[in-house]
Amino acid sequence: MSRNPPRPNCPPDPFASLLLVADFDDLIAANRDFAADFVGGDFDGVAHAGVAVVTCMDSRIDPFRMLGLAHGDAKIFRNPGGRVTLEALEALVLGVHLLGVERILVIPHTRCAMAQYTEAELRERVAASAGVDASWQQFHVIEDQVASLEEDVRKVSSHPLIPQRVRVGGFLYDVDSGLIHRRF
Ligand SMILES: [Zn+2]
Repeated sequence: MSRNPPRPNCPPDPFASLLLVADFDDLIAANRDFAADFVGGDFDGVAHAGVAVVTCMDSRIDPFRMLGLAHGDAKIFRNPGGRVTLEALEALVLGVHLLGVERILVIPHTRCAMAQYTEAELRERVAASAGVDASWQQFHVIEDQVASLEEDVRKVSSHPLIPQRVRVGGFLYDVDSGLIHRRF
């Protein structure tokens, strides 16, 4: 049996492709500039500085620059709040065993929305923006950021597939000063 059932015979929508292009025009143009002098074609994907970072998706955080790292130096895993989730652990295990990671930094940050609001408040705000019910959407809010960081660092350092030789640190990034402060 074919995995791709035949599609209904719809005429192409001439505006659909225009919209698709226009939506991302600026970014595609920037990518063309980026690719014009691209030299990373033979890059191996290993973390060249042996570093992995778990941090928040917050756009105030530039994980490479804030640690003096360059493109290719580190594995970066980001999510709301910078939490060590199952997916983060999966990434770290791969990073350690296959991609040269020797040091892991878990870096949540000050003034993080995930630590400022309750789940009910986030659902309310999202529902107001979406105009539909959002009560079913899970948001992993952080009640105590320092306690969560300690728990996250422990999750990494006690993971059976993360060897003892790998150094694990828990830091808080101050979005106002740009400094990271080690907590664990
Ligand atoms: Zn955040």
